[in-house]
Amino acid sequence: MPRAPPPLSARFRLDGHRALLTGAAGGIGEAIARTFSEAGASLALVDRDAVRLRALARSLSTAGPAPIVAPADVTRVAEVARAVRTAAAGLGGLDILVNAAGVTAKGSVATTDPAAWRALLDINLTGTFLVCHEAVPHLRRSKDAAVVTISSVYSLIGGRDRAAYSASKGGLDALTRSMAADLAPDGIRVNAVNPGFIRTPMTAPTLRDPKAMRFFRAATLLPRLGDPQDVADAVLYLVSPASRFVTGICLALDGGRALGR
Ligand code: NAD
Repeated sequence: MPRAPPPLSARFRLDGHRALLTGAAGGIGEAIARTFSEAGASLALVDRDAVRLRALARSLSTAGPAPIVAPADVTRVAEVARAVRTAAAGLGGLDILVNAAGVTAKGSVATTDPAAWRALLDINLTGTFLVCHEAVPHLRRSKDAAVVTISSVYSLIGGRDRAAYSASKGGLDALTRSMAADLAPDGIRVNAVNPGFIRTPMTAPTLRDPKAMRFFRAATLLPRLGDPQDVADAVLYLVSPASRFVTGICLALDGGRALGR
């Protein structure tokens, strides 16, 4: 006999769930924070931009309990350890981790400076590892834990002139699958989403470049580009009870771009 699922009204809700979000001061991170807050989660917000983090926390506090604010640079081991400790202590544990902190950079293998390569991999890939490393002991104590990492469509198709960025996101997809296998016995689900072009501060320079915009509009099969809410809704699904049998997937959110037609 199949087990009775929670009612529909509960399957996409996060009431009682405690979530740590990195990159929370960014375009996608903010949309996830607002969506989780609306879904009933309590939040700990992590980003290296403390000013924007505090402004977001203030605006969320008007609607519900004040989020924990834990500024940290994800490349710094001690800062990450302190932020995760602060989050878990303030929330009374952790059920959800979303890794959205990241940067992008232009450059092919030929034109990328080795120091710039290392700096990008340090943030996007090693930074995500460090946060997971610190958070997993807390997630193991949850009875319903989920991790979602914001990867990119470039890990699936290879971004032109984005060698370091694509490699970092490919690493995140592999890390997601590896963590999903390691943590499945503990009931911790681990997934990634792979967005295409999303309007955020990261893509603001591209939005001002008509030639680049012609390219992205043509490469995206659906007749519009993505918004942060498109990502936040998919992340909500992946951390909510609705996806309770889903682990180890990398979900393209790209308006069909990876189809490559
Ligand atoms: P964004 O620039 O608005 O946000 C990124 C956030 O990460 C910023 O708040 C920044 O302060 C933070 N950050 C960067 N380095 C950090 C560090 N070392 N420590 C702590 N915080 C740090 O960009 P976004 O578009 O919201 O991007 C969020 C995630 O989504 C990134 O991982 C990005 O690669 C990914 N993504 C974005 C797009 C897009 O089109 N915008 C597409 C695919 C994937």
